[in-house]
Amino acid sequence: MKYCRFQHNGRGEYGLVESVAGKDEITRVFLKPPDAGGDVEDLPTKAIARLPLADAKLLVPVRPSKIVCVGRNYRAHAAELGNEVPTEPLLFFKPPSSLLASGEDIRRPQISQRTDFEGELAVVMGRRCYKLAGDEDVRPLILGYTVLNDFTARDLQKKDSQWTRGKGFDTFCPVGPVVTGEIDPWAGVGVETRVNGDLRQHGNTLDFIFPLEVVIRYICDVMTLEPGDVIATGTPEGVGPVVAGDTIEITVEAVGTLRNRVVDE
Ligand code: MG
Repeated sequence: MKYCRFQHNGRGEYGLVESVAGKDEITRVFLKPPDAGGDVEDLPTKAIARLPLADAKLLVPVRPSKIVCVGRNYRAHAAELGNEVPTEPLLFFKPPSSLLASGEDIRRPQISQRTDFEGELAVVMGRRCYKLAGDEDVRPLILGYTVLNDFTARDLQKKDSQWTRGKGFDTFCPVGPVVTGEIDPWAGVGVETRVNGDLRQHGNTLDFIFPLEVVIRYICDVMTLEPGDVIATGTPEGVGPVVAGDTIEITVEAVGTLRNRVVDE
């Protein structure tokens, strides 16, 4: 199942996204949210006049209680920032107030001299979970996957011992355009970032240092994950600075492209 959130009849609704003649279209709206923790196969929906996804006014497709991020989950990215390859996942938060829809502008704060894109695959949780059993399969806990830009004020991240400020500005967490359960990161999914059309990152989930079952288990040993919570899985090598006027496009294979322009605050 693939879905988005979009502006429809004056309010935000979850839309079912289906491929019609090779193009993604919104064909139905959900009468109950798909990320509330229930069984997504039986959710009631209503048919609407079909709308090409490309023509929809997209909203952020997730409503998490928290966004848990993994730092340095690709060897080559750890190396490019001069960091050791970690021996266990490094976790940090981005606040829900930093969320931004595909198509909206990232606002570069005046107090930062260097802001970087970080293209990432993100997990959307489908079940409440805490302290998983040793042999528990994490896949049934996952609702789907989306694209996330872990936008970062690199100078502030380096200056502060906590990353809350450097990672937490409003608009620093673009997510979308859709959430889909139809990909398998364990089988390898490509993550690519382009800036103004130039390819800057080209990674694959097969290169995770810590695969999803390790990451989810590690997080759940600390805190309860709620339905709808988002986990950003780390960025491949190739991060770099962007300035006002740049357009960042992050594509996760078979999910879609998250597109945002950068503007000065
Ligand atoms: Mg990151």
